[in-house]
Amino acid sequence: QARGAPPYLAGLNPEQRLAVETTEGPVLVLAGAGTGKTRVLTSRIAHILSLGKAWPSQILAVTFTNKAAREMKERIGVLVGGAVEGMPWLGTFHSIGVKLLRRHAELVGLKSDFTILDTDDVVRLIKQIIQAEGLDDKRWPAKQFALMIDGWKNKGLGPSEIPEGDARAFANGKGRELYTAYQNRLKTLNACDFGDLLCHPIRMFRAYPDVLKEYHAKFRYILVDEYQDTNTAQYMWLRLIAQGSKNVCCVGDDDQSIYGWRGAEVDNILRFEKDFPGAVVIRLERNYRSTAHILGTASFLISHNEGRLGKTLFTDAANPEDAKVNVHAAWDSEEEARAVGEEIEQAQRRGHNLNDMAILVRASFQMREFEDRFVTLGLNYRVVGGPRFYERLEIRDALAYFRVVAQGADDLALERIINTPKRGLGEAAIRQVHDYARARDISMLDAATDLIETEELKPKPRSALREVVENFRRWQSQIESTPHTELAEKILDESGYTAMWQADRSAEAPGRLENLKELIRSMEEYESLRSFLEHVALVMDAEQNENLDAVNIMTLHSAKGLEFETVFLPGWEEGLFPHQRSLDEGGRSGLEEERRLAYVGLTRAKKNLHIWFVSNRRIHGLWQSTIPSRFLEELPEAHVEVVSTGDSYGGYGGRGGYGQSRFDRADPFENSYSTPGWQRAQQHRSDATRNNWGSRSGARVERIGYGETDSGHGAGRG
Ligand code: ATP
Ligand code: MG
Repeated sequence: QARGAPPYLAGLNPEQRLAVETTEGPVLVLAGAGTGKTRVLTSRIAHILSLGKAWPSQILAVTFTNKAAREMKERIGVLVGGAVEGMPWLGTFHSIGVKLLRRHAELVGLKSDFTILDTDDVVRLIKQIIQAEGLDDKRWPAKQFALMIDGWKNKGLGPSEIPEGDARAFANGKGRELYTAYQNRLKTLNACDFGDLLCHPIRMFRAYPDVLKEYHAKFRYILVDEYQDTNTAQYMWLRLIAQGSKNVCCVGDDDQSIYGWRGAEVDNILRFEKDFPGAVVIRLERNYRSTAHILGTASFLISHNEGRLGKTLFTDAANPEDAKVNVHAAWDSEEEARAVGEEIEQAQRRGHNLNDMAILVRASFQMREFEDRFVTLGLNYRVVGGPRFYERLEIRDALAYFRVVAQGADDLALERIINTPKRGLGEAAIRQVHDYARARDISMLDAATDLIETEELKPKPRSALREVVENFRRWQSQIESTPHTELAEKILDESGYTAMWQADRSAEAPGRLENLKELIRSMEEYESLRSFLEHVALVMDAEQNENLDAVNIMTLHSAKGLEFETVFLPGWEEGLFPHQRSLDEGGRSGLEEERRLAYVGLTRAKKNLHIWFVSNRRIHGLWQSTIPSRFLEELPEAHVEVVSTGDSYGGYGGRGGYGQSRFDRADPFENSYSTPGWQRAQQHRSDATRNNWGSRSGARVERIGYGETDSGHGAGRG
């Protein structure tokens, strides 16, 4: 390291340093996880500022999340000694887009105080437009069209630019017309949607070269993190702006492209070299984040993908004290949560901070089990990048139904769902019920019960309200006679709530349905609806504080770019991870994106990495035997240890025979249920490990040291 180099350069390796010091001209840093790409960007900004090459306001820096933007700002401050006076153009593509649009709204037909519509607003608006065209909005759902528009905007396509086939695909060929009507309507409302935050600036730059020139002069340096997940519109936007100074530096990792389902185009990496001739391409190969075991595991897993640009990664020589990657098996998800909780408590006792630990799940419904467990244990946790399980919209709705059934006087709960799903109870009708209840000091449900017998309400809302009242009265009468989980399911079905999400075509709907199933499942652990609701009230009360030392729970998608000392990856089972939807799609691309997601998960860990799979998941109250994730088979023997205690137990069959044979046999732990839960978990773990994962192929079995064959029956230990 050069003597006298400023501190932000001194610690960098030669390739990183090249990436930082090559400030002029296009630079592409293509490198694996944990190689310091984000650090390069931060140092690069510090370098530019320190050399006085640009003011903070002349640097355009794009991060993937707002949180990442805040962190980057902080770190730059540290590197240059706190002298950074803001960085107004450091943010996500969307936040930068808003800023541009507010300045030039009039150029795209808006006023500068335009509003940004959320998804609900957008769907409502589209529905109006579909109806105004005299189309049947049941046959041509607004949600579906909203998705189509979003897809077009991700590609930067306006109404006149969409392919003819696309235009024909909706509403008997009226796709283009509707899209045009939608854009016009937005203009009238002085509003735009998320896609417009990118598309409007693109259109503006093309139509007003003078304005574009202004920004060419302004942005001396342009930087983009997580470049592999940019979509076409973002790329077009970037290319327009970067044609000015051409001092553009993008960093990314094709193996971490995990937003293909949202329109991200990993090909943008290849386009970069074409569109920016003479680009310096820098590869970083040294990983600073993870131990050799973790890195070896992640690299081996991702090598199973075919569509890769390919790269090598190395880290410091393995330290004999480093733990191998641990693969654990549990009987079911409850045990998984219990065992992870135990593991965390042990680490805490050894002096580890909760902040340094993360649980990364594939699907958000998996969080419930952990949250419940942590509340029971009194372990602090935070859910990053989303609401906690019981705070999710669909869960709150469902709970509101249950509360009204269990506690008839719960007006807040009733108000929440009285018109969800939509049943024609407008504000006026609800107000009438409200006023009637106030005047007589009775609950809204009682008020509604009275009101439907009078002439006070208009016929339509009255019959809607009658149905609501009759439903709730019926459910209430069943509270003693019907098992509470069954009743809960009935409530969601008979109220039309489940159907509402089944009919919903948005990207979130399947996840919401999964969450509802998980909610019902979670109730099984309680005696009654009431005791369950009490439990939920306690969970909701648990503090969620940024400054608290707390375990991090989040989805794999929101873990991008982050790192933790210890990482838990639960639920590595076929159908959950890789997710069923990617398997249903067939083809390679969905599965490869899942594998990249696994790679992202593995590479978040610095020191300790624990992967879990369970033998059984209860779905809809039914036991379903599961098949261990194929990704487990793609982990390298040398770096992985299957954690097991307990004695040997004869193994059996590979993947095909697994489910059946597991249950054909008498439960080997039939008699062990008197042992404490944790011991039982250990036993189950050893059992499941040996029987499921370890036996799926000869080589793998060998690898983890249980000499079973892959005969389908299992020859026991070799
Ligand atoms: P990802 O692909 O996951 O986003 P990344 O390539 O952006 O990873 P960083 O987050 O920048 O990697 O760096 C990973 C870790 O390695 C960080 O803790 C960072 O501080 C550290 N690191 C990076 N470069 C160096 C270096 N030259 N010396 C010491 N530590 C480094
Ligand atoms: Mg990064």
